[in-house]
Amino acid sequence: MTDVLGPLIDGLRADASSDGVTSVRNPATGEEIARVGRSSAEDADRAVQAAHRTFQAGEWRRAPVRERRDVLRRIADLVRRDLETLATLESQNAGKPIVAARGEIGVVAGAFDYYAGAVDKFHGQTIPSQANGTLLTFREPIGVCAAITPWNFPLAILSWKVAPALAMGNSVVVKPAELTPLTALALGELALEAGLPPGVLNIVPGKGSEVGEALIDHPLVRKISFTGSTEVGKHVMKSGAAGIKRVSLELGGKSASVVFADAGLESCVESSIFAAYDNAGQDCCSRSRILVERPVYDEFVERFAARAQTLRVGDTADETTEIGPLISPEHREKVEAHLAAAESEGATRVCGGERLELPGNFLSPAVYTGAEPQMRLMREEIFGPAVAIVPFETEDEAIRLANDSIYGLSGSIWTRDIGRALRVARRIETGMLSINSSSSVHIEAPFGGVKQSGLGREQGMAALEHYTEYKSVFIADD
Ligand code: NAD
Repeated sequence: MTDVLGPLIDGLRADASSDGVTSVRNPATGEEIARVGRSSAEDADRAVQAAHRTFQAGEWRRAPVRERRDVLRRIADLVRRDLETLATLESQNAGKPIVAARGEIGVVAGAFDYYAGAVDKFHGQTIPSQANGTLLTFREPIGVCAAITPWNFPLAILSWKVAPALAMGNSVVVKPAELTPLTALALGELALEAGLPPGVLNIVPGKGSEVGEALIDHPLVRKISFTGSTEVGKHVMKSGAAGIKRVSLELGGKSASVVFADAGLESCVESSIFAAYDNAGQDCCSRSRILVERPVYDEFVERFAARAQTLRVGDTADETTEIGPLISPEHREKVEAHLAAAESEGATRVCGGERLELPGNFLSPAVYTGAEPQMRLMREEIFGPAVAIVPFETEDEAIRLANDSIYGLSGSIWTRDIGRALRVARRIETGMLSINSSSSVHIEAPFGGVKQSGLGREQGMAALEHYTEYKSVFIADD
């Protein structure tokens, strides 16, 4: 039997206080890869108390900016040193093709690098005052921040919260998703090795209903940064209201790609395939609705479905694999229920949606046509490898269809007409857009959604707003 991994609290690997153990499994094989002690509300409280103590002591928040910058930079270096180990862990824990996992760990190092550089570039101002004196603002850390993360991009999403929070001098308690705690625990150890004072970063794996609840309700937690489903996000926001906590939310999506007839179809199809099926479609930015201008609709569907059927789905350790499994057997069943609903509502499955003859939770990439706006296929986040391809006649119709969603996270526009691209970009209700590209993540730019896709932004200098408070200071002339 393997050792049971405990939470990381106050710089020490502790035993979880409950008897519960999570058997962490490789979604590609079903095999147990680790056993993690299920933390309890009591562990969450110990972690918050440790974070609060370190914040009050000030060893980190009052450290010279140079020191904070150097520690963050060392974390980035250590992540790069251990890139292969971390990528293998992420691949096995979250069911990612190894090549994709390496890319994500590179993103993590990039986030710590970026916020190392941001430490001394985000500051208060001197403001001209109507009174006789000098008016200043300080940007101060908030205090204990709770970071609650999902299972789809475990370490990357953690880094988008932890790196800016630490850069501004906060203390942090992370609750990783119950299914994917391994790289979070490893990062906690690397941060200590990099010289982060014990207790500034604590990692408490456990259930949302227990550890998550304990964190969002804890009176010493001043800020909650949550990434996950819209349903849980609403609950987090309500709970945060009780203590007027700062809350930022990265939630679900149902993003649209708008393909005009003048787009270069070859590169558009190749890119759109990965925008739809990357991470087996378990991606908040997945372009799960593809709107295609009528004259090229049939050709697009034909090319897209042909390519979907050649995607290499399977062994995540294989360097050539493009698509991995779904995160769990239960999640695959949920996705299959969505596919069944799509068909019972009248959509046509062109290909895919089949289980593979492999032990893991695999599902082949599914393509649907005949989808109508009111169908669940067009409205709900499936979080699996399924897309609907829908024709449109006019620019206005494309915009109306793209905006016909409670979500507004990401999206793409494909056209060679730059005027039209910008005109449409202005009218699409979303937090991020790419033109002739599918890329949504740039550490330098704000990342987040409008409507029910979230509140606030991660990444870029915008994230630092969420980890600081203003303090206005007036100094009288005499
Ligand atoms: P989830 O909402 O079930 O869980 C997210 C996290 O919240 C987990 O750590 C979970 O344990 C915790 N949690 C659950 N119940 C809680 C509670 N009552 N109190 C406190 N914490 C609780 O989401 P998931 O299934 O892990 O992730 C998939 C969802 O995340 C999708 O909807 C996806 O779109 C979204 N997501 C959004 C982004 C983004 O940046 N917008 C990025 C990735 C994933």
